[in-house]
Amino acid sequence: MIVSSFLLLLSDLFSEIKSDSDKIYIMNIHEYQGKEILASYGVRVQRGIVANNAVEAVAAAKQLTTETGTSWYVVKAQVHAGGRGKGGGVKLAKGIDKVEGIASEIIGMQLVTPQTSAEGKKVHKVLIAEDVYYPGESETSEFYVSVLLNRGTGRNMIMYSTEGGMDIEEVAEHTPHLIFTEEIDPNVGLQGFQARRIAFNLGLSGNAFKEMVKFIDALYKAYIGSDASMFEINPVLKTSDNKILAVDAKVNIDDNALYRQKAYAEMRDILEENPIEVEAKEVGLNYVDLDGTVGCMVNGAGLAMATMDLIKYAGFEPANFLDVGGTADAKRVETAFRIILKDPNVKAILINIFGGIVRCDRVAQGVVDAYKNMGDAIKVPIIVRLQGTNAEIAKELIDNSGMPILSAVQFQEAADQVQAALSVVS
Ligand code: GDP
Ligand code: MN
Repeated sequence: MIVSSFLLLLSDLFSEIKSDSDKIYIMNIHEYQGKEILASYGVRVQRGIVANNAVEAVAAAKQLTTETGTSWYVVKAQVHAGGRGKGGGVKLAKGIDKVEGIASEIIGMQLVTPQTSAEGKKVHKVLIAEDVYYPGESETSEFYVSVLLNRGTGRNMIMYSTEGGMDIEEVAEHTPHLIFTEEIDPNVGLQGFQARRIAFNLGLSGNAFKEMVKFIDALYKAYIGSDASMFEINPVLKTSDNKILAVDAKVNIDDNALYRQKAYAEMRDILEENPIEVEAKEVGLNYVDLDGTVGCMVNGAGLAMATMDLIKYAGFEPANFLDVGGTADAKRVETAFRIILKDPNVKAILINIFGGIVRCDRVAQGVVDAYKNMGDAIKVPIIVRLQGTNAEIAKELIDNSGMPILSAVQFQEAADQVQAALSVVS
């Protein structure tokens, strides 16, 4: 406990300073949007047109035929989750007469993939794309290529493998020697020899080799230019006529960069997001919904993570991650309470706040006032642990408030109170 309190204190101090700039969020976009970004940087992509219903899907297929001459199409569910193929969200239409039926089957379906919850995600749109595996699937090859930030080294890296089209986690588990990485020096950017090494390690030669070098170069430019934290292309396809193109695109844009990436900020699809998270974002709270029963209200992302660890250590699961940030006044605490209580799984709320810049007694007053304002809207036990400036005064304030709020100074006390409160409830 001594060690973890010390770590907690360190993370408190750290997060206090960084809490506003250190938002851990990323924005997900759809495959069709990722491909638009790629194409704008000169990356060759499988040509496709997005459709909201079966009528639009048929029109899209006709247009693709005019543009590319294709007569086979692939109909792809657009949801923010991978593994769509496995869940029946990617289907081949061997002829324009098949498009309407397949599109109406996929649009509106509840798509369950290895990356969604058991209830799956509702499909609102499909991408109609030209079939690029035709003719002769045997002459095509699928690769895996991603660009991402390696937080360990603080550098961007390109990760790639000959084992494309498959679940990369499985490749990593069973055949890790088939995954290669190329780290990029931020001072000089991606070097020509690195792109050539990638093409070589992927076993390419001749025109396909040259195409891959161009592909990697343009992909990296797209990643840097769009302030992304990940671009995952799985599969990258080598066609039977030796062209290299992106068949899929999973893209994460760094949330902190959206102020200067307005066009990409507009790509956000609220239908894909958790409604409570959307609401929290609107009022400026960092909230991430989780599966457990203990609601957390914390200041600073580091303390939020440490708190979640300690909840688990006490034998429970956190219901959320909520960082109220620097100003934990009554209004903000009340908003946070209301957000946390929207989750019906919450059985207790633990408030763990470090008073550094913000004094503990002010936070305590905020909690008491918020509780009073909310009347009987709060039906679950509230445990407040305040540590830092004026912590003792804060505890007295809570204890004398006449409100059924439990207070603690040490984390262990708070954890014990959560335990006691939950064992009464369950
Ligand atoms: P994911 O399952 O969500 O990763 O979606 P993908 O975009 O990767 O598509 C799943 C699979 O569909 C790919 O791995 C391909 O094997 C297949 N696929 C995608 N496009 C085509 C296509 O044009 N023709 C054929 N025959 N298969 C395709
Ligand atoms: Mn894929």
